[in-house]
This record gives sequence, structure tokens and C-alpha cells, in this order.
Amino acid sequence: MSYILLTGGAGYIGSHTALELLNAGFKVLSFDNFSNSSDAALKRVEQLSGEPVVSIKGDIRDEAALRQLFSDYNISAVVHFAGLKAVGESTQIPLHYYDNNVAGTVTLCRIMRESGVKKLVFSSSATVYGDAKQVPIPETSPRSATNPYGQSKLMIEHILEDLVQAEPDWGITLLRYFNPVGAHDSGRIGEDPNGIPNNLMPFISQVAVGKREKLSVFGADYPTHDGTGVRDYIHVVDLARGHVKALQYLQQHNGIEAINLGTGTGYSVLDMVNAFSRVNNIAVPYQIAPRRPGDIATCYAEPGKAEKLLGWQAEKTLDDMVRDSWRWQSANPNGYKS
Ligand code: NAD
Ligand code: UDP
Repeated sequence: MSYILLTGGAGYIGSHTALELLNAGFKVLSFDNFSNSSDAALKRVEQLSGEPVVSIKGDIRDEAALRQLFSDYNISAVVHFAGLKAVGESTQIPLHYYDNNVAGTVTLCRIMRESGVKKLVFSSSATVYGDAKQVPIPETSPRSATNPYGQSKLMIEHILEDLVQAEPDWGITLLRYFNPVGAHDSGRIGEDPNGIPNNLMPFISQVAVGKREKLSVFGADYPTHDGTGVRDYIHVVDLARGHVKALQYLQQHNGIEAINLGTGTGYSVLDMVNAFSRVNNIAVPYQIAPRRPGDIATCYAEPGKAEKLLGWQAEKTLDDMVRDSWRWQSANPNGYKS
């Protein structure tokens, strides 16, 4: 039986997807340089599933290592998570972001092509919609980018579109994630950010566990129901299942499709803080701070295309998201080092 290759498989979304793929009967091979993760996540995936995960350390920019990988294993499709994702950092070290994300993807596709593997699920992002004029955001909404991270995702989308245009026997799905949060309900795998979290949910969790004093709410003067920014938070296990559906879809289809993975519902920063406190019965001290440069007021998905093409829709609730985030954080206060 063949493997599904997960680049960046040890990361937050990769490890949850590995588990859902194993549960669905796929064989999983991870290729990760561990620049933002550790092998511990995949060890826990093995414990949870009772199935092996082949974990190879390597970098997607390393053509020789990729060539070896594709020759050593029978790979039928690739889910491409590997990438750097910190927006602020991307403005400081743009060349590193373009090299890692864009050049890395080109190298990966070149070796896939050479090996005759032409099924690819790519981790794109709602960031490619820039400051969308209308919500909910359909896949046909115009694309733009305001920082090197977003630009790298947009460039990769264009590169993959050009590839399919030139070689129609590829099957590629661009999954545009909205805001992934939460953790597996075992509390054994979850998000383990390095240093100070950039994202809202890990920051809330670290305040609740006492690692940080209080949350700064970036802006309370947006044109939203309570003045704080609104996003489409999606449970990472729902997101992971979307990848299983995308792979099943690609078994039957060639061509390229961009598909939103979101719930279609927007919650504000204060909605998230209040849900976290209510469900977990724990205080989350916060202060109102200035807007964060580059942030937009409101962003949520039109999720209908995923349902129509993949038969997928988010099932988990806001309460599931905050409960599972807290279960992971409280059981693993220092992430995988706990
Ligand atoms: P993550 O950092 O936890 O996982 C990415 C993994 O890729 C890490 O394990 C890292 O070590 C690995 N990696 C990075 N560069 C690599 C390289 N050159 N070679 C091999 N491995 C490499 O991040 P995540 O949250 O799991 O995100 C996965 C993907 O989804 C990323 O491409 C990210 O841009 C995209 N995405 C994430 C979010 C989010 O909010 N988490 C939203 C939209 C899109
Ligand atoms: N946010 C916040 N404080 C934080 C981190 C985030 O108020 O410490 C807000 C941010 O301004 C946005 C929302 O939470 O409105 C989601 O931010 P995140 O960085 O998680 O995701 P983004 O949608 O920006 O990619």
C-alpha cells in the first residue's frame, strides 16, 4: 500500500491530519526539518492511533533528500504543510520566507513531477483574500497580500495554477484555512508555539495557565458587534478531516480547486475570551490595546464549496474549541517538553 507524504507533518495541523489519516486507513509518511516542531508530536500520534508513522527529518529545499524519499517510499499523494507562518517575522526576514515557502514548494513539485506523483493538497490561507470587500468570503473573491507571508501563499497559488494549466494531469487542492484553533480531544497533541504566541488562542491559553499576565486585545474600535476583530475560528480536528476529504476527492479528480475551510461563522476576540472563561471556568485577564498593524476588522468564510465538492463541513462548536484548547494547554503547560 502507498503512503501519503505530509511535508511539515510534525507541526500543529500536520500532526492532527496524520492522526485523522491513520484513523481513515491511510499510511502516513512525514518529512519535516523540525524548525518549528519536534518528533514528539508524531510519537503521540502513533500512541493515539496504534499505527506507525514514518518520520524522516529533512528540508523541502533539499532536492537530493526529496529525491531519495520518493525513491525509498511508494508515495501516492502529498499534503504540503511545510512552511513558515509568522506574519511579523516574515516582514523582518522576507528572503528566508520566500526561500523556505516558495522555493521549497517549487523544489517539492519538481521532484513530485520527476517521480510521477501529481496529487497535491496545499496549505493555503484566508490571508490570500487580503482585506476582503465582502463577507462571507467566497473562493472567487479577489486575492491580495499585505506581507511577505501572505505574498508567499499567493505566489504558491499562482505557481500551482500555472503548473496545472501546463500539465492538466495534476490534481491539486488549495485549502484556504481560516483560523485553526483547538486540539485533539485526548489532550495529547496540540499547538506548541515557540516563544510568545502571535495567535489569539494560544495566547489566551497561556494567560489562563499563568505563563502570561494578561491578554492584549488589539483594538476595540473596529466596526464589529463589540468593537474587537472578528474571525472564523475552526477546530483543528475539523480542519484535519477536511484534508482526508480532499485526498479522497483527488483520487477521482484532476485539475485545481481552491476551497475554503472555515465554519462560516465569525466570533470576536471578546467572544473567544468569554467562551474560554465560561466553558473552562477560568479567568482570562485582558486589557484593550491599540490595533495591531495590518489587522482587518472581519473575516469569515463562505464554506459551501467544501460541502459541495468534498462533502465536508465543520462539526465542532465554539465550546469544543475552547475546551480542547484548554485541555491540551493545562495537561502540557510546556507543550511537548512537558
Ligand atoms: P507549524 O509550524 O506547526 O507546522 C509547519 C511544519 O513545517 C513545522 O513542523 C516545521 O518544522 C515544518 N517546516 C517548515 N519549513 C520546512 C522546510 N523547509 N522543510 C521541512 N519542514 C519544514 O504550522 P501549522 O500551523 O501546522 O501550519 C501548517 C501550514 O498551514 C503552514 O504552511 C501554514 O502556513 C499554513 N496555515 C496555517 C494557519 C494557522 O493559523 N496555523 C493558517 C493558514 C495556513
Ligand atoms: N488578537 C488579539 N490579541 C492577541 C492576538 C490576536 O487581540 O494577542 C486578535 C487579532 O487582532 C485578531 C484576532 O485576535 O483580531 C485573531 O488573530 P490571530 O493572530 O490569531 O489570527 P489572524 O486572523 O490575525 O491570522
